[in-house]
Amino acid sequence: MKITVFSPDFYTYGAMLIGGILKDEGYNVGLSTKYNIKTGDTLLLSLFSTQHLLSDEIKTMIRNHRSRGGKVYVGGPVSAYYEMVLGELEPDCVCVGEGEDTVKRLVKGGVPGDYPGIAYTGGDGEIVFTGKAEKADVSKRPLPLIPPDIGSQDIRGASAYIETHRGCTGGCTFCQVPRYFGRDIQSRSIEDILKEVREFKKRGAKRISVSGGTGSLFQYKDGKINEDQFIELMKGMAEIMGPKNISSPDIRVDCISDDILEAIREYTIGWIFFGLESGSDRILKKMGKGATAREAEDAVTACREHGLKAAGSFIVGYPGETEEDYEMTKDFITMNQLDDVFISIAEPIPKTPLADLVLRTPDEDNPVFMPHEGEYRALRITEAEARSFDLMMHSDLFRSSIRPVTNDIFDIYLKNVRKDGEDIRRVTGALRKYYGI
Ligand code: SF4
Repeated sequence: MKITVFSPDFYTYGAMLIGGILKDEGYNVGLSTKYNIKTGDTLLLSLFSTQHLLSDEIKTMIRNHRSRGGKVYVGGPVSAYYEMVLGELEPDCVCVGEGEDTVKRLVKGGVPGDYPGIAYTGGDGEIVFTGKAEKADVSKRPLPLIPPDIGSQDIRGASAYIETHRGCTGGCTFCQVPRYFGRDIQSRSIEDILKEVREFKKRGAKRISVSGGTGSLFQYKDGKINEDQFIELMKGMAEIMGPKNISSPDIRVDCISDDILEAIREYTIGWIFFGLESGSDRILKKMGKGATAREAEDAVTACREHGLKAAGSFIVGYPGETEEDYEMTKDFITMNQLDDVFISIAEPIPKTPLADLVLRTPDEDNPVFMPHEGEYRALRITEAEARSFDLMMHSDLFRSSIRPVTNDIFDIYLKNVRKDGEDIRRVTGALRKYYGI
């Protein structure tokens, strides 16, 4: 049997992992990031964004593949809301949750099957869910399937993001990680991770990054961060790739220490990326961030003291965010002069508390739908789009190295926020349909 594992636009770690597992089972497996797949009798899609469920390109690809008689299975974080996956994409089956074990049974046994972890549409049109599969054991896995062109891949500067652990102790309302992988941390062994890093290097990867929400939660146990293990991991990875080719960017502001920051300075490219989200404690509390704006400022200061660059991401347009809350976010950016800033509009990812909140919030109180009546009203954008647009330009002026906002940049930002707003309204519309609202 020939199997193609598809991930949209770039090779995700999840797709490479599933590819490696199936190859280890003896199947003929290939990876693809292109939408025009014409070979293979089984197509596995590894999808991580709700936008993928609404993508016409993906829908056409699935329809074409099935009309040629090929089987189509969908997995990845989107599977948390399998009803929506089945309704929008119409695959043969959804591999629900952590897919390492389920995918082997699925490919071998097909659909319908008497094993847990799959959902499909039965003959009477009813959705059948066979029950939750057991959690995957992250300590036992073969090497991922690494494509020959991995060296040309560039995701935020890295050829690949590898998984060192699974789960997050946090409870951010907009994030799927703790709901999908749980709040207990499951870590891999350093030996296994380094073996994988060596393999990536051998296959041409230029820079490796650590994924998983917060890098320093590696080997977290009994409520404690294991600094020694994190430092040993960074050191080991740097010995293989060289420190300039390692990054462990994503870290919660409350998961750092002097030793962790020092290790990041010594063994990586020296950047930290904090999910700061807002300068308003009121909104941070609503988001379940578990940290205050003051703690975020202290974390940025600590990075500077260790000679690290600090970047931050912010979310605007969260339901209930007032003009005053938004001004506090602007002030945070003014005061802290981050080295890079990323801005997004609050997106209701299915099965998160934010999705429930958005569905309970009338459009006239949700900034994603409210028409903007202020300074940018001539642009005919919504309040969330206006805040996102304004914050992008503001952060260009108040970053460590100023970026002038030219006419071209103005146009790009405007186009981007309009698209973001439109995409999020489409997702909200789809959620309403599946929640029966
Ligand atoms: S800290 Fe990061 S990974 Fe964890 S719940 Fe919050 S956003 Fe998600």
